[in-house]
Amino acid sequence: MNTDPPHLRSVRQTIRGRPTSDGAGVKLTRVIDGSERIDMDPFLLLDEFRSDQAGDYIAGFPDHPHRGFETVTYMLAGRMRHRDSAGNSGLLVPGSVQWMTAGRGLVHSEMPEQEDGLMWGFQLWVNLPARDKMTAPRYQDIPAVQIPAIALGAGANARVLAGRLRSTTGPVETGATAATYLDIQLAPGASCEESLGAPDDTAFVYVYEGQVEVGTAGAATLLARGTLGVLGAGSTLRLAAGAADAKCIVVAGRPLREPVARYGPFVMNTRAEIEQAFADFRAGRL
Ligand code: FE
Repeated sequence: MNTDPPHLRSVRQTIRGRPTSDGAGVKLTRVIDGSERIDMDPFLLLDEFRSDQAGDYIAGFPDHPHRGFETVTYMLAGRMRHRDSAGNSGLLVPGSVQWMTAGRGLVHSEMPEQEDGLMWGFQLWVNLPARDKMTAPRYQDIPAVQIPAIALGAGANARVLAGRLRSTTGPVETGATAATYLDIQLAPGASCEESLGAPDDTAFVYVYEGQVEVGTAGAATLLARGTLGVLGAGSTLRLAAGAADAKCIVVAGRPLREPVARYGPFVMNTRAEIEQAFADFRAGRL
């Protein structure tokens, strides 16, 4: 029974990631893939990659195209080199985020710049509205030092990558989805209660260390490491750690409520637009 006050967001569905591989054989955990029972609009995909075995990541993601959405890569550990067909290049290091608006399209590679050690981070795909799908590609490469870290109370801290938390606004500009992306760290026994995006934004919590209780004490849902909680509507989110350190990303965004046609690296509104994307890619126009 859920006895949360109506303003508090509660967990409507929990999702365990499933192991898979992508790119040239990178082992990762796919958490959001479009098959969710609850519509995750505007979020299309969430991967966690975490391994200290070079063989799991060394092959990387060689040249591949994207069109029609944004990829958001947030690194916790390791170094990843990004290069695209227009000559742009960047290095993703721990604590940095790259918010890439693929727009009308590009061909890029994402390759580890290390031969051993831990590689750990997330890639989130955020949809673009029809009016922005063919926009010029844009990179927001944000170094760790430019991401504000704020204290939420005793033992509770957050990094604000995008959107607003209390009076702090993250450095990423997010357009139509007005997305919020937070990294929240809780010491043992710590908790926080925060307003998160708009009350009807699609929102989720993904726990990457320890376990996190979501909702009112006594009627909360406990999320273990590697579990995503899809949140119901509400103005406020309450999180609490158990007896160990807990860390999670918290993401929210405005649903686009448009038809979605997706195939591999292309996410458009119609099947004809997907076919056009393939034609453009084959003709070297991305
Ligand atoms: Fe990519």
